[in-house]
Amino acid sequence: MTRGVLSYNKLVSIVNGYLDGSVSEVSMIDWIEDIYSNGMSIQESADYTRAIIQTGIKLEFNDLSDPIVDKHSTGGVGDKVSIILGPLLAAYGYHVPMIVGKSLGHTGGTLDKLCSIPGYQPYLPINKFKTIVRDIGVSIMGQTDDICPGDKKIYALRDKINKIDSNPLICGSIMSKKIAEGIKGLVLDIKTGNGAFMSKYSMAVKLGKLLKEIGEKNGLKVRVAITDMNQPLGEYSGVGCEISESISCLKGNGSKDLMDVVFYLAKVAIEIFEDCANIEKLRDLINSGFAYEKFEQMVRAHGGSVKKFNHLNYKNPKNKYTIRSNSDGYIKTFQTKKIGELLSSIGAGRLNNIDGIDNYSGLRVFKKISERVSADEPVLEFYCSSKEKINNLRVYCSNLFEVSSSACRSQELIYREGA
Ligand code: URA
Repeated sequence: MTRGVLSYNKLVSIVNGYLDGSVSEVSMIDWIEDIYSNGMSIQESADYTRAIIQTGIKLEFNDLSDPIVDKHSTGGVGDKVSIILGPLLAAYGYHVPMIVGKSLGHTGGTLDKLCSIPGYQPYLPINKFKTIVRDIGVSIMGQTDDICPGDKKIYALRDKINKIDSNPLICGSIMSKKIAEGIKGLVLDIKTGNGAFMSKYSMAVKLGKLLKEIGEKNGLKVRVAITDMNQPLGEYSGVGCEISESISCLKGNGSKDLMDVVFYLAKVAIEIFEDCANIEKLRDLINSGFAYEKFEQMVRAHGGSVKKFNHLNYKNPKNKYTIRSNSDGYIKTFQTKKIGELLSSIGAGRLNNIDGIDNYSGLRVFKKISERVSADEPVLEFYCSSKEKINNLRVYCSNLFEVSSSACRSQELIYREGA
């Protein structure tokens, strides 16, 4: 039997019904399975997104004349771009109301990372969130009950029945939260490669197109960037160590791959509103410490203290496991998803980890694809607060990277100009 077109009103009654209990869990599972198998049209996906938004508050920033913008990444290993980009765009004069998620699957979560800063409050009342965005320019927090509660409940059910992987439901879930932030422009950073959910480029293009169409049908200006996830991004991946690295980046000491992605996404975001982004100005905002000041102000407004954040704890912890190269040569590949899964299992995420997030869990990447390595040189180093977990890790750490005796091409970082 065919389902028939899902109108906006029908979608509202399904979503609201599930929220208030008049649509049972069994019926909702049937509905999700139907969408999972048969998909939705673009119009239905856009209407589903609106139906989710109306379950909560849609923020308005009517008194702000400067651009209001956000970036969403589909997730990866070592992807700490939001933590650097948000304050950088705020320093540029933009407003960035950023609602972010926790770790998902093998990828890390921006919210978990921020929670490693002593005192950082991850959930704020909407009015406080708006005030910080207005006064400082950036606030990064998690999804509260006011923002798309329909998404929260449906997402939990999709997760329970293992039906996350449905493009219209993913798009509705992502775009509803972004549109509800009250932004005018959005950059989508679709990660592709062996550490991304969209492992193939064609999958990334398809998802980006759908997200963009849904955003535009809801009045948002959207640009799609497709960037690489065939190796962890930057030098560290994990929880506290990513905050430590983000602070270094905001103080002008970021690694090239990470900062290239940050500046590129900043440019794409700015060019939603202006003809040409001033890249020199962006670099100055980092080098002068102004972007870092924005970060510090944001952390303070969230109740946190950057001064109390002890970098050494995270970058040089007691329990480590170092993986060295067996031979001389060049780094050819990383098993990025497997690295993310191992990281999660020692506390950087929730996959195969029943003990909760461990702020000390992390990974240092000493060498990147194409770099020369000598026999016995460190390539990867895992960290964790549990000695036992670090010891257990040794069993699973074979074949996390491949060394070739001949030179290898460096890994392309940015695949597509923001379209
Ligand atoms: N992230 C979300 O917020 N929702 C999804 O459905 C998938 C990823």
